[in-house]
Amino acid sequence: MSDQPAKIPIQAVKGTKDILPAEARDWQAVEAAVKAVFELYGYREIRTPIFEATELFEKGTGETSDIVVKEMYTFVDKGGRSITLRPEYTPSVARAVIEHRLYLEPRPLKFYFIGPMFRYDKPQKGRYRQFHQIDVEVFNEPDPGCDAEIVEMADTLLSSLNVTGTETLVNSVGCPKCRPAYHDELKAHASRLERRLCPDCQRKAQTNPLRIFDCKVESCRALTRDFPNIADYLCEECRDHFARFRAYLDLYGIKYRIEPRLVRGIDYYTKTAFEIIAGHEGAQNAILGGGRYDNLMKDFGGPDICGIGFAMGVERLLSVVNPARPKEKFLYLAWMGEEAKRAAMELARFFRAHGIECLVEFRERGLKNQMGRANKLEASWTVIIGEDEIRKAKYQLKDMSTGEQREADRDEIAAVIKGA
Ligand code: AMP
Repeated sequence: MSDQPAKIPIQAVKGTKDILPAEARDWQAVEAAVKAVFELYGYREIRTPIFEATELFEKGTGETSDIVVKEMYTFVDKGGRSITLRPEYTPSVARAVIEHRLYLEPRPLKFYFIGPMFRYDKPQKGRYRQFHQIDVEVFNEPDPGCDAEIVEMADTLLSSLNVTGTETLVNSVGCPKCRPAYHDELKAHASRLERRLCPDCQRKAQTNPLRIFDCKVESCRALTRDFPNIADYLCEECRDHFARFRAYLDLYGIKYRIEPRLVRGIDYYTKTAFEIIAGHEGAQNAILGGGRYDNLMKDFGGPDICGIGFAMGVERLLSVVNPARPKEKFLYLAWMGEEAKRAAMELARFFRAHGIECLVEFRERGLKNQMGRANKLEASWTVIIGEDEIRKAKYQLKDMSTGEQREADRDEIAAVIKGA
């Protein structure tokens, strides 16, 4: 063995990133907006574990989906179980609803969640291996009004975050009654092209031909341009659902475009599919995607109740959003001598109990040095504490934006700062 200690990698693992304090403020603003908006629509937060049994995603997300075929973080734990870091949220929520029989509760089954997801994907701009999703799920509501309300809620969230220039795409992916005929038609078209489709599309043509439309390879896109549209294959029920969904979107004044090639990459979708994309072109422009999954719960061995939801990528959202962030206000306590340091620490405790952010240095510095620090840190106020101030229990409060200085006791200081 070498005497050299092993080198510790000082770099986050490929495809992951740190959210540093300056950026974390934006995340907090997004999280606060999510909570404020979604709870108005009767959604409640649900939190499930980061990992689940692998079969949950194999069965839920679907054995032919790209996520399951290529992207799962799967490992065997010390007990010999196959575990997967969740690549998406819907199967976890469906599992929790069944396990805890939440469907028996009188509350509407409307859930939201924010947290990390894991996909072993090729990292690139806007695409990470650990990324975060805002997720929404509704169970047991078959009415297309619910589909429209979900899209309207996403739109309201984006508006509340001042996201503009987005486009809403909608489609219907049919159901197990009408989709097989469309699958057969696509398979026939794909086989006529023989080997001109990329190997991935050739595989999809056999396993799940709808997925061919997800392909980003330009030649495949060109070759499949005149493949038939699913709209011409929908059964009466799916066609009616899609028409009513669109009518409710019109009612809400939501502008949308019907995108016949919008099929979503996951096996369980039925009927409604939608995406909201950022205005600019590019492969990573989907901010959110979702749809209806009427058979997932039944397929999981749960009750025969339908579901619908969407997932929004937080990193993608933050790339198009600029949350209004008020300037942080805080009080810098300057002191001279051990006694004043103790007084500063006590005062900080008092002010913080009044909800005022405070910063106290622990190392002795000259007064000039401390005022320089307060300036550099962009403190809103400073309080200067010396022997005289301690004796009188009155302190010099300086407003750093105006330079005004006044003498005040701690209650007056708290009142001035709180009133600002
Ligand atoms: P999906 O579950 O694939 O429909 O993804 C839903 C949303 O999550 C997308 O619209 C993106 O905003 C985001 N997303 C998906 N995969 C990634 C990734 N690898 N990195 C960052 N964001 C992602």
